[in-house]
Amino acid sequence: MPGLVSSVGVLQLRPEFLGVHRNGAFRLNLAGFVRVGLFAAACYAVLIAVLLQQGAAVDLRVESIRALAFFVLMGGVSILGLEMSGLRDALQERNRDLQQALERIQHLAITDELTGLYNRRFAKDILGQQKALADRGTYGFVLCLIDLDLFKGVNDRYGHAGGDSVLCQLARLFEQAVRDVDFVARLGGEEFLLVLSRTDVAGAQQVLERLRQTLRGTSWQNCPELRLTLSVGVSRYCSVEPWEDTMQRADSALYQAKGNGRDQVVLL
Ligand code: GH3
Ligand code: MG
Ligand code: MG
Repeated sequence: MPGLVSSVGVLQLRPEFLGVHRNGAFRLNLAGFVRVGLFAAACYAVLIAVLLQQGAAVDLRVESIRALAFFVLMGGVSILGLEMSGLRDALQERNRDLQQALERIQHLAITDELTGLYNRRFAKDILGQQKALADRGTYGFVLCLIDLDLFKGVNDRYGHAGGDSVLCQLARLFEQAVRDVDFVARLGGEEFLLVLSRTDVAGAQQVLERLRQTLRGTSWQNCPELRLTLSVGVSRYCSVEPWEDTMQRADSALYQAKGNGRDQVVLL
């Protein structure tokens, strides 16, 4: 039936006009189903008209029954399709919720609740990654284990909330003191870890000196007149050693810094 084919071709119907999207008929909405039904009915009517015009023997009673059967079928398909479309939308929404929940869980798993810094668990992952990179011979990294001096006294003087606000403000100062490639974690209590990548001991000393100067000039939001100092143990990663050994050296260095009277940096 070339005449009919060409006349349909001239219409140049786009799938979007019918409400059909690339993902198939189950994405049709009610308007889409109505459009598809009307389009099919129109094609059917044109076909009958063409046949009648060409003098073909068309039994209009039979054709009417066929058309009725078609509309009943179309109605059933529409209901099924709408049901599927609704299920699909609900599923997509559920997937979005799950994705958001997963992202939140992932964030919580690596973040310290109070300061928003990385937590101890993620610090271990970072150290493993840094070791793997350093062992390929590309670069080295330095650990700075920081403990606040006499922090118990801060709580005693300004209350636990005051101490918490100092920890948060300090966390921001740490983040500002390091570069984007470095990492800052709160290991617990008033103990922090800086992982300075692509850095040697001299570079780490510069960072820490800057930080200690900043601290001297800082006024603490909820703790007027507080003078806060840090003790720091520094250790450079030595190729292929377990990162736990580097941490152990930094810890011993910190212990020495405390023993020597606090407010200082010790290298080991
Ligand atoms: P040192 O110089 O020897 O480190 O003395 P310090 O008082 O800092 O050390 P100590 O280990 O005796 O006490 C640490 C204090 O840190 C005890 C605790 O009250 C406080 N602290 C630990 N975690 C938190 C926290 O999440 N919030 C607040 N506000 N204080 C905390
Ligand atoms: Mg401590
Ligand atoms: Mg302390």
